Amino acid sequence: MQAGDFMMATNILLSGNNFAKVKLLFKHMNMGIVADKTFFKIQNAYCVDTIKEFWEEKRSAVIQRLATKDSVVALADGRMDSPGHCAQYCSYTTMDNDSKDIIALVTIDKRETERKAVIMEKEAFIRTMDLLMTEINLKEICTDAHVQISALMNKGKYKDAGIFHSLDMWHGAKNLAKRITAVGQQSGMKLLLVWVKAVVNHFWWCCNKASTHEEFMERWLAILHHVADEHVWVMGKCEHDCPTKHPKEWIVRGSVACTDRH
Ligand SMILES: [Zn+2]
Repeated sequence: MQAGDFMMATNILLSGNNFAKVKLLFKHMNMGIVADKTFFKIQNAYCVDTIKEFWEEKRSAVIQRLATKDSVVALADGRMDSPGHCAQYCSYTTMDNDSKDIIALVTIDKRETERKAVIMEKEAFIRTMDLLMTEINLKEICTDAHVQISALMNKGKYKDAGIFHSLDMWHGAKNLAKRITAVGQQSGMKLLLVWVKAVVNHFWWCCNKASTHEEFMERWLAILHHVADEHVWVMGKCEHDCPTKHPKEWIVRGSVACTDRH
């Protein structure tokens, strides 16, 4: 083993890169690189424990500071090592909303959840919550609209602890765009595609304006009128200056694109 091997192996890891990908890059550039076996040897012998210790030290300082606050809002999301059901690992990251500091990092191996990839995120969420609840005054946790997580938060100890579960707008907006785009692919629905951006913008606007679910829904449903060129209706009106001649095509009220539920 040479000093260069140590530098290479350690820095591939510390820069958050993947050895196989860096190796491929080097191969394309016709350059030599530390051998696979040596890389993993160095990673296991010198890096993993040190990185873990460093992280634990950083984390406990952050937790100590947050423990003095009477309410913490946290944001959490899981990431799989590969998409779909074939994922082997799920790493679940939680961040403090005020400081943006990472406050928890939980990694689940599929073998810990009876080889079921779909429940890894739920398991990671439970471990995160159970840990944080003993350390800080968690008042709100924001996640994507994961059905299993919503189900957990609506009953039992998390509900009893009075922790509010909110849904991440970014995920909401992304899902919305995905769904409208998918429906827009079907016959007779193409018109929806020109509206994706406007509908998603409206979603963001509603999220920012509304402070309750009712307020949100009231504003949100206005979109059904607006897209059909109806800007004043029995129960309300559009809150923007709506063009009389819209650059987009209006969706005819009662048409499949306007009414069909998907
Ligand atoms: Zn309008």
